[in-house]
Amino acid sequence: MNEKNTLYIVIPCYKEEAVLPETSKRLREKMNALRAAGKISGHSRVMFVNDGSSDQTWPIISRLHEQEPEMFSGVNLSRNRGHQNALLAGLLTAVNYADMIISMDADLQDDINAVDAMVDAYHEGYEIVYGVRSKREKDTFFKRFTAEGFYKVMKALGVDIVFNHADYRLMSRRAVEGLAQFSEVNLFLRGIVPQIGYKWTTVSYERAERFAGESKYPLKKMIAFAADGITSFSVKPIRLVFSTGVVVFLISLVMLLYALISKLAGHTSAGWTSLMGSIWLLGGIQLLGLGIIGEYIGKIYNETKRRPRFIIESVLNKA
Ligand code: UDP
Ligand code: MG
Repeated sequence: MNEKNTLYIVIPCYKEEAVLPETSKRLREKMNALRAAGKISGHSRVMFVNDGSSDQTWPIISRLHEQEPEMFSGVNLSRNRGHQNALLAGLLTAVNYADMIISMDADLQDDINAVDAMVDAYHEGYEIVYGVRSKREKDTFFKRFTAEGFYKVMKALGVDIVFNHADYRLMSRRAVEGLAQFSEVNLFLRGIVPQIGYKWTTVSYERAERFAGESKYPLKKMIAFAADGITSFSVKPIRLVFSTGVVVFLISLVMLLYALISKLAGHTSAGWTSLMGSIWLLGGIQLLGLGIIGEYIGKIYNETKRRPRFIIESVLNKA
């Protein structure tokens, strides 16, 4: 068993006053059980991150901390920055104190009983443990359809992503330190975390229903989130424009030939050949040009993100 066993559970909260009392109660029980079993140290904490909520979320968190400073901590963001940024703020704060960090949602949709298996995997030497949803029976058909479709599109576009894994995961301190080196602004954690590398595994759990309050991810936010995920990790959409350009350009050559032959055969009205020819040729050249420009913008875009090119896991060297 790993001696370094201080666990922080990081929970982003946006207007979660309806769920916090129950969530904190369930997590207190879980933490106490883990402490009693000797799997986590007495310095372990539940860290709530208030993502600029306008309701009672922060007062509730502060009260929890005042009453039980050895159980609950809080991070308060200056304003609403969105789930992913709130989560990152929590991870990068917790990494100063923790040896392992679990991130989960405030609404207990992520089964907290999977925490045990995650902590066990950490003690077995895994640096990242992904929580994977085994079933989605509790989700509406629409949510399930769009969410699973999203994972399939991501895979098809060549993005390394764990199927049906959201943001319920355990990361070792080392893994979070790796994450801290990714300085991108368009944060899409479930795409970045696999880029960190290290030894990883998955733990499956059943996704429950939100037991109180309502989803903070309306369709509009979901679409923006998915589009962000795709464009941050794949230049394939740009390539698509480029290959369409090539195809249209080739068709235009055929059309040009056809127009010329028709003219020579003599059954065309005046002006038709030149019009046909120029429409196709110009269209093809324009798309081709756009595709090439797009390719360069794609490169610039990837550069400006300044991602680390590698993270060293260990060095064998005798100085
Ligand atoms: N959340 C956040 N900031 C936001 C929106 C959501 O911190 O701007 C948190 C929210 O409090 C919850 C988690 O992100 O802990 C997931 O949100 P939600 O449960 O509403 O999403 P869903 O499960 O419906 O996809
Ligand atoms: Mg939820």
